Formats: sequence, C-alpha cells, structure tokens
Amino acid sequence: MGSGIIEEEEEDTVSAQKQGMVFEWYCDHSIVCRWGDHIFATYGVAMGCAAATFCATHVALLRALCAAAVLPSGFACEGFALLQLVAFLFGGRACSMQLEDRHVINQSVWRAALRPGMLSSGGQAFWVGTCLATAYACGAAAPWAAALALHDATMASFFAMMPLMKVGCVTYGCCWGCEAARAAWWTTVYTSPHAKVLQARADLCGRPLVPTSTLQIALFVATMAAGVLLARRASTIPVGTLTVVLPWVHTLINRAVYAMRGEGAPPEIARFTQQEQRRHRERWTRPLKALSLAGALSWTVALSPSVDVVAHLRAVAPASPASLSLAFLLYATAFGYHRGALGQWCVRRASSRQYQSDRTVHKAHPHTE
Ligand SMILES: [Zn+2]
Repeated sequence: MGSGIIEEEEEDTVSAQKQGMVFEWYCDHSIVCRWGDHIFATYGVAMGCAAATFCATHVALLRALCAAAVLPSGFACEGFALLQLVAFLFGGRACSMQLEDRHVINQSVWRAALRPGMLSSGGQAFWVGTCLATAYACGAAAPWAAALALHDATMASFFAMMPLMKVGCVTYGCCWGCEAARAAWWTTVYTSPHAKVLQARADLCGRPLVPTSTLQIALFVATMAAGVLLARRASTIPVGTLTVVLPWVHTLINRAVYAMRGEGAPPEIARFTQQEQRRHRERWTRPLKALSLAGALSWTVALSPSVDVVAHLRAVAPASPASLSLAFLLYATAFGYHRGALGQWCVRRASSRQYQSDRTVHKAHPHTE
C-alpha cells in the first residue's frame, strides 16, 4: 500500500510537470496507430510533411533557375527534387549504419542493420554527388554554375524542411536535451515508454529536459526569414551563395544546440561516445564543406553568374500535387513504418536469438537526427 501512495505521488509530480510544457507539449504522441507488430509512428507524418515542403521549395527554385537560364530549359525539376529526397534517405541511412549498426554488420546480421535510423550528414554528402553528376550530365551551358545552382536550391529546401523534421524528432524522442535544473513551463517531459529517449535512458522518465528541438526550429526559421529579407532587398544574387553560406550556418546552429543536447546511452552499454559520433558526422560533411569552399573560390574569380531569383520565382508554376504526394508517401513510409518497436524495421520479434539480442542493443542506440 505504501508503495502505491508513492507511485501516486510520482504520477502527480509528472502530470504537474507536463502541465507546464508549452513548446513540446506533443512529445509523448510517438505512435499514430499500431496493428499487431506493425507500427505507424507520428515521426512519419512530420517527415512526410517535411518532404513535401522540401519538394515544393526545390521545384519552385529549380524552375526559377531554369527561367534565369542557369539550368537548361527542359530540366526535369520535379524529377530532380524527388531524386534528392531519395539520395538523402540512402545517404542518411549509410552514414547511420556505418556508426550505429557496425556491431551487427560485423556479425553479418544485415537484416538487423535495416531500420529507420538516419544521420543527416550522410544525406548531405550524397547531395553533393547528385548535384555535380546531374550538372555535368544535363547539358548545362556552364556545368559548374549549374552544380552550384542545384546545390543552392537543395540547401534552401533543406532549411525549409528542417523545422518539420525537428517536430518529428520531438515525437520520436531522438534528439533530446540535457536535464534542466528544475521543472519549468519551457521544459520537456517524456513519459511514453516508446520514446527513444526513454528506451536509451529510462532514468529520464518524468525529468524536465531542455527543448533543444524547438530551439533548433526557431533558429532555422530565423535564418530563413533573414534570407528571404536579404534576397528581396538585393536585386541579384551570385549563384552558389547559399552553398557557401548555409552549410556554416547549419554547423553554427548545430554547435549551439549540441551544447545543450542530452547524453545518449550509459557508457556501460553504449557502443560509441558522443565525441565519436561528432567526429563521424564531421567526416561525412567534408564533401559539403569542400563544395562550399570551392563555391566561395569561384565567387572571387567571378565564375558564378548573378541572377534575380526572386523575380523569376514569382512567375513559376508550383510543384504538381502528384510529386508532392509522392514526396509525402516516400518519407511517411521510410520514417513512419516500424516493426515490433519504434526504431526497428526488419527485425522480427523472437525470430532468432541473435535478433533478440540486437533488439536490446538497438534500444541503447536511439536514432539521432
Ligand atoms: Zn532526431
């Protein structure tokens, strides 16, 4: 009986803390529906919306660049936007797999490595490749300028999709903040056992956390607002400007927020440290940083033409409902479908002892942005 009273008191504390939640009040809504082993996560809805936003922004910018004659007039804008979404998925998965699933790959348990965990640095690395390859294959008059233009459009669309991606992170519980000194209206409290944060750190259940994802959303929105204001004031912008500027802005935002990120799994079960993860990400962002520096260099030798993107943007047709729906479905499925538990795809429960033990390992390795 005594323990019952203590539990009630604990529940009261948790609900009192949750009442104060203002920014990330939806953090415990991690699952939309489940049917037996099949789970559809709220993460998928947010990522589907993020992908549709990426597609709409990307297609509009590419069409403006075609109108400005930086890209050839018959360029497949919608096809390229969808290709970039696919490239981001494969790059993100490859990057995550190399770090987070190396233990199962080393044991040749490939199916266990197939799960919805992505690291965005890998997606960005693949984008550099697709932009360069497409620019040199599409018959553009100036392929280098076309590559920078394609990458500019991709970076702008990435910033546009980021706020919705971070909303998804809140519901998934993957990018949690460090513990706050005390419960307050701005703190986040997870109590859902499905949230990745509590799968890795059960001790954080009911604890007040810093809302790092919301902070990131605010910083991305502020960057975009500043960018739109600057673009409207300037008559023309050199091609490659966003490729030169945005990767460093992204790094600054991440650095600022990572200082407030929570720790992952406890050291006794963690397979990599936060430091190792940061070094891994940095390795994967090297192609992006190299393209950014090359873009800055081509400014100085006047290889980049200047275009009035805003004027052209007003006259272009938006992306078709078909490509927006395809973008939504692609990401809603890739990020929303889980099997057995959040964070798994192909690992059947009790299909083998090996998989069973990997389940435990995966619990210790939450997806990270
Ligand atoms: Zn995340």
